[in-house]
Formats: sequence, structure tokens, C-alpha cells
Amino acid sequence: MSLKLLFQLITTLIICTNITAATVLIDPGHGGEDCGAKAKVWKKKKLKVVCEKDIALSIAKKIKSYIEKNSSHSAYLTRLIDKTISLQKRSELADTIKADIFISIHLNASEIKSSHGFETYYLDNHDDVAIKKIENVENADSNIEKVIINQILASLVVERVAPSSKELGKLVHHQISNAIEKKYSMKDRGLKPGLFYVLALSKRPSILLEAAFLTNSKEAQKARTRKFQEQYSKAVATGIIKYLDKGKDPDLF
Ligand SMILES: [Zn+2]
Repeated sequence: MSLKLLFQLITTLIICTNITAATVLIDPGHGGEDCGAKAKVWKKKKLKVVCEKDIALSIAKKIKSYIEKNSSHSAYLTRLIDKTISLQKRSELADTIKADIFISIHLNASEIKSSHGFETYYLDNHDDVAIKKIENVENADSNIEKVIINQILASLVVERVAPSSKELGKLVHHQISNAIEKKYSMKDRGLKPGLFYVLALSKRPSILLEAAFLTNSKEAQKARTRKFQEQYSKAVATGIIKYLDKGKDPDLF
């Protein structure tokens, strides 16, 4: 092989690697002092409180592992253990590791105990419904000031990443729906626009997943099982990989 040919081959390999390998930041919601939603479940004849933060961490770890085993992309977590971490710190980490996309994992809660199902939010600052969502518990963080809210609402960056967030949300939600809806008799609550600080501050295509309602006792039991968590995580990871692999086709970007 001539030197010129070898040089061309190496250059091609470097370019291909740069195009295909993306970085995913997975954010298990809550942690440490912040339990998130609470589920009351029976375990060994005793009523036990299960926290959203623990199920979210378990699901996030499974998504990371599936992405790494089944693609050339890298995946990182905003927290590896049960610890308190601010929404600001989570999103700053996206800059530190130069993440291409941001995925926040949560479990839902409602005062209406019968509420059930899974839903996917994509970052959007246009819709009135999305702006209402800013009051939601997932945004609860005393460090967030009103001035930041206004910055987010006016942010051109958020506006720029909103279409890619919707595309990412579509692919991931479709996979979740296929894997979970019939098998677990869970309601598909749909793909929705949402304005969450943690997504907006991350400044990249991002989605927030609500895997199930912990305030619904039947659904909480399902969400705690390893089988549900594995199947849910596999579906999310498959959707993420599909989104990232679309980047290989220059016509799509
Ligand atoms: Zn949450």
C-alpha cells in the first residue's frame, strides 16, 4: 500500500469515527435528599416506601449499558449513586462532557391515584401547555430564579434545539410504545412538548421520560420489576441509537 493510500485510509477512518460516535448524557431524576415521587408497596408483608430516585437510577444505568453494548456511542450518567445534585449541575455536566443529547429519566406522580401510563416530553418553549409545565414538580429547585425562567423562554438555543428534541422524542417514544403498551397494559399518554429547566439548561436536543405513575399502586409494582426496567431501558436505548445513527446520513442533518 502506498503512503498516499494509507494516509487517505487513516483520514477516512478519523472522519467516520467522528461522525458516528456521539455522546449521550443520561440523567436519573432526583437523588439524595430528594426522593422524587413516592410509591407505597407491599414487601414481605410490610408496607414500604419506594422512591422515584432509585428506580430512575436503575433505569438510567440499564440504558447506558445497552447503548454501550449495542452501538459505538458513549453514554454517561449525571449521578452514579444516590446523591443530591442540582438541576444546574446536571445541565452543566452536558457541557463538560460535550454531550450531543440529554435524556432525563423520571417516574410520574398524581393526586389522582388512578392516573396511569407512560409519556415522553421533548424540549419546547413555544407551547402554552409546555410553559405551564414549568410549575411541575420536576422543576422543583430552589436555586432556579425567575430571571433564569425568562432567559430560558427567550433562549435562541432552546429554539434551535427544539426540532431535534421532537425528532429524538418521536423515535424514543415509538420504541417505548411498541415494547410496553400491550405487554404491560399501560396507557400511552403520548409525546408532548415540555419546558423543563434541566432540559433547557442542557442546551442540546433533550427529552424527559415519565416511565410510569408511582402513585398508582398497580403501576408502581410493575415499574419496580427488573423485567419492566430492562424492557423499558432497551426501548429507550434503541430509540436513542436510531436517532444518533440517522446522523450518518448527511441528508438528514
Ligand atoms: Zn421526577
